[in-house]
Amino acid sequence: LDPVLAIIGRPNVGKSTLVNRILGRREAVVEDTPGVTRDRVMYSANWNGRNFTLVDTGGWEHDARGIHARVAEQAEMAVELADAVLFVVDSAVGATATDEAVMKMLRRSKKPVILVANKVDDFAQEADSAVLWGLGFGEPYPVSALHGRGVADLLDHVMDVL
Ligand code: GDP
Ligand code: MG
Repeated sequence: LDPVLAIIGRPNVGKSTLVNRILGRREAVVEDTPGVTRDRVMYSANWNGRNFTLVDTGGWEHDARGIHARVAEQAEMAVELADAVLFVVDSAVGATATDEAVMKMLRRSKKPVILVANKVDDFAQEADSAVLWGLGFGEPYPVSALHGRGVADLLDHVMDVL
Protein backbone atom coordinates (compact mmCIF):
# COMPACT_ATOMS: atom_id res chain seq x y z
CA LEU A 1 0.00 0.00 0.00
CA ASP A 2 1.31 3.47 -0.88
CA PRO A 3 2.05 5.87 1.97
CA VAL A 4 -0.56 8.56 2.51
CA LEU A 5 0.12 12.30 2.61
CA ALA A 6 -2.77 14.45 3.85
CA ILE A 7 -2.99 18.15 3.01
CA ILE A 8 -4.81 20.24 5.55
CA GLY A 9 -5.26 23.94 6.27
CA ARG A 10 -7.87 26.68 6.43
CA PRO A 11 -9.99 27.50 3.37
CA ASN A 12 -8.23 29.45 0.64
CA VAL A 13 -4.62 28.84 1.72
CA GLY A 14 -3.98 26.98 -1.56
CA LYS A 15 -4.31 23.28 -0.67
CA SER A 16 -5.98 22.27 -3.93
CA THR A 17 -3.53 24.37 -5.95
CA LEU A 18 -0.69 22.50 -4.22
CA VAL A 19 -2.35 19.16 -5.03
CA ASN A 20 -2.50 20.12 -8.70
CA ARG A 21 1.12 21.27 -8.62
CA ILE A 22 2.24 17.96 -7.10
CA LEU A 23 0.15 15.94 -9.58
CA GLY A 24 1.35 18.05 -12.50
CA ARG A 25 -2.18 18.48 -13.75
CA ARG A 26 -5.35 20.31 -12.80
CA GLU A 27 -7.46 17.73 -11.10
CA ALA A 28 -8.33 19.25 -7.74
CA VAL A 29 -10.87 22.05 -7.87
CA VAL A 30 -9.36 25.45 -7.12
CA GLU A 31 -11.75 28.21 -6.20
CA ASP A 32 -11.43 31.84 -5.28
CA THR A 33 -14.35 31.26 -2.94
CA PRO A 34 -13.28 29.60 0.33
CA GLY A 35 -14.65 26.22 1.26
CA VAL A 36 -15.04 24.50 -2.10
CA THR A 37 -13.31 21.21 -1.29
CA ARG A 38 -15.75 19.79 1.20
CA ASP A 39 -14.76 16.17 1.31
CA ARG A 40 -11.62 14.16 1.33
CA VAL A 41 -10.38 13.56 -2.18
CA MET A 42 -7.64 11.05 -2.89
CA TYR A 43 -5.12 11.10 -5.71
CA SER A 44 -2.31 8.81 -6.79
CA ALA A 45 0.90 10.81 -6.93
CA ASN A 46 4.54 10.13 -7.69
CA TRP A 47 7.79 11.90 -6.90
CA ASN A 48 11.20 10.66 -8.05
CA GLY A 49 9.78 7.22 -8.80
CA ARG A 50 8.01 6.79 -5.48
CA ASN A 51 4.27 6.41 -5.37
CA PHE A 52 2.15 7.93 -2.63
CA THR A 53 -1.47 8.81 -2.07
CA LEU A 54 -2.38 12.47 -1.69
CA VAL A 55 -5.47 13.40 0.31
CA ASP A 56 -6.88 16.87 -0.32
CA THR A 57 -9.31 18.10 2.32
CA GLY A 58 -11.66 20.99 2.80
CA GLY A 59 -10.60 23.69 5.23
CA TRP A 60 -12.26 24.37 8.55
CA GLU A 61 -13.53 27.43 10.35
CA HIS A 62 -12.84 28.44 13.93
CA ASP A 63 -16.49 28.64 14.90
CA ALA A 64 -17.05 25.19 13.49
CA ARG A 65 -20.77 24.58 13.14
CA GLY A 66 -22.90 22.85 10.53
CA ILE A 67 -20.99 22.07 7.35
CA HIS A 68 -17.77 23.40 8.84
CA ALA A 69 -17.90 20.96 11.75
CA ARG A 70 -18.20 18.11 9.25
CA VAL A 71 -15.29 19.47 7.25
CA ALA A 72 -13.17 19.72 10.42
CA GLU A 73 -14.05 16.07 11.10
CA GLN A 74 -12.89 15.20 7.60
CA ALA A 75 -9.57 16.88 8.32
CA GLU A 76 -9.21 14.85 11.51
CA MET A 77 -10.03 11.63 9.68
CA ALA A 78 -7.56 12.48 6.94
CA VAL A 79 -4.85 12.97 9.57
CA GLU A 80 -5.76 9.64 11.16
CA LEU A 81 -5.23 7.70 7.96
CA ALA A 82 -2.16 9.71 6.93
CA ASP A 83 1.47 8.71 7.34
CA ALA A 84 2.46 12.37 7.19
CA VAL A 85 0.63 15.70 7.04
CA LEU A 86 1.24 18.86 5.08
CA PHE A 87 -0.10 21.69 7.20
CA VAL A 88 -0.56 24.59 4.80
CA VAL A 89 -0.74 28.23 5.85
CA ASP A 90 -0.89 31.40 3.77
CA SER A 91 2.52 32.99 4.37
CA ALA A 92 1.14 36.51 4.27
CA VAL A 93 -1.44 35.67 6.92
CA GLY A 94 0.48 33.12 8.99
CA ALA A 95 -1.20 30.75 11.40
CA THR A 96 -4.15 32.54 12.91
CA ALA A 97 -6.08 31.93 16.11
CA THR A 98 -8.45 29.90 13.97
CA ASP A 99 -5.63 27.41 13.33
CA GLU A 100 -5.04 26.74 17.01
CA ALA A 101 -7.54 23.91 17.50
CA VAL A 102 -6.27 22.11 14.43
CA MET A 103 -2.65 22.56 15.49
CA LYS A 104 -3.54 20.97 18.83
CA MET A 105 -5.15 18.07 16.99
CA LEU A 106 -2.03 17.71 14.84
CA ARG A 107 0.25 17.62 17.90
CA ARG A 108 -2.01 15.04 19.58
CA SER A 109 -1.94 12.88 16.46
CA LYS A 110 1.85 12.39 16.81
CA LYS A 111 2.00 12.20 13.00
CA PRO A 112 4.92 13.87 11.23
CA VAL A 113 3.77 17.37 10.27
CA ILE A 114 5.46 19.37 7.55
CA LEU A 115 4.68 23.06 7.74
CA VAL A 116 4.09 24.64 4.34
CA ALA A 117 4.12 28.42 3.96
CA ASN A 118 2.26 28.88 0.69
CA LYS A 119 1.94 31.91 -1.58
CA VAL A 120 5.64 32.74 -1.31
CA ASP A 121 5.66 33.79 -4.97
CA ASP A 122 9.03 35.52 -4.79
CA PHE A 123 12.12 35.85 -2.63
CA ALA A 124 10.89 39.03 -0.96
CA GLN A 125 8.07 37.08 0.66
CA GLU A 126 10.32 34.45 2.17
CA ALA A 127 10.84 36.47 5.35
CA ASP A 128 7.11 36.00 6.09
CA SER A 129 7.59 32.27 6.44
CA ALA A 130 10.49 32.48 8.92
CA VAL A 131 8.20 33.54 11.78
CA LEU A 132 6.40 30.20 11.39
CA TRP A 133 9.32 28.48 13.12
CA GLY A 134 7.54 29.63 16.28
CA LEU A 135 4.68 27.18 15.74
CA GLY A 136 6.82 24.26 16.85
CA PHE A 137 6.41 22.14 13.71
CA GLY A 138 10.04 22.59 12.71
CA GLU A 139 11.32 24.21 9.55
CA PRO A 140 8.66 25.99 7.48
CA TYR A 141 8.84 25.22 3.76
CA PRO A 142 8.17 28.35 1.69
CA VAL A 143 6.43 27.47 -1.57
CA SER A 144 4.35 28.97 -4.32
CA ALA A 145 1.81 26.33 -5.27
CA LEU A 146 0.69 28.65 -8.04
CA HIS A 147 4.09 29.02 -9.70
CA GLY A 148 5.87 25.92 -8.40
CA ARG A 149 8.54 27.76 -6.47
CA GLY A 150 10.00 25.63 -3.63
CA VAL A 151 7.76 22.63 -4.34
CA ALA A 152 10.60 20.32 -5.41
CA ASP A 153 12.48 20.99 -2.15
CA LEU A 154 9.29 20.37 -0.22
CA LEU A 155 8.67 17.04 -1.97
CA ASP A 156 12.27 15.93 -1.44
CA HIS A 157 11.71 16.50 2.27
CA VAL A 158 8.33 14.74 2.17
CA MET A 159 10.02 11.65 0.70
CA ASP A 160 12.45 11.60 3.65
CA VAL A 161 9.51 11.62 6.06
CA LEU A 162 7.05 9.27 4.32
P1 GDP B 1 -7.87 25.77 -0.82
O1 GDP B 1 -9.21 26.28 -0.39
O2 GDP B 1 -6.92 25.74 0.36
O3 GDP B 1 -7.93 24.46 -1.55
O4 GDP B 1 -7.26 26.88 -1.81
P2 GDP B 1 -7.24 26.87 -3.42
O5 GDP B 1 -6.18 25.96 -3.92
O6 GDP B 1 -8.62 26.67 -3.91
O7 GDP B 1 -6.71 28.36 -3.71
C1 GDP B 1 -7.37 29.49 -3.17
C2 GDP B 1 -6.89 30.75 -3.90
O8 GDP B 1 -5.51 31.00 -3.62
C3 GDP B 1 -7.00 30.63 -5.43
O9 GDP B 1 -7.39 31.89 -5.93
C4 GDP B 1 -5.58 30.30 -5.84
O10 GDP B 1 -5.27 30.69 -7.15
C5 GDP B 1 -4.77 31.10 -4.83
N1 GDP B 1 -3.41 30.53 -4.62
C6 GDP B 1 -3.10 29.25 -4.34
N2 GDP B 1 -1.76 29.08 -4.24
C7 GDP B 1 -1.20 30.30 -4.47
C8 GDP B 1 0.17 30.77 -4.51
O11 GDP B 1 1.14 30.05 -4.34
N3 GDP B 1 0.33 32.10 -4.75
C9 GDP B 1 -0.71 32.94 -4.96
N4 GDP B 1 -0.44 34.23 -5.19
N5 GDP B 1 -2.01 32.54 -4.94
C10 GDP B 1 -2.26 31.22 -4.70
MG1 MG C 1 -9.51 23.15 -1.91
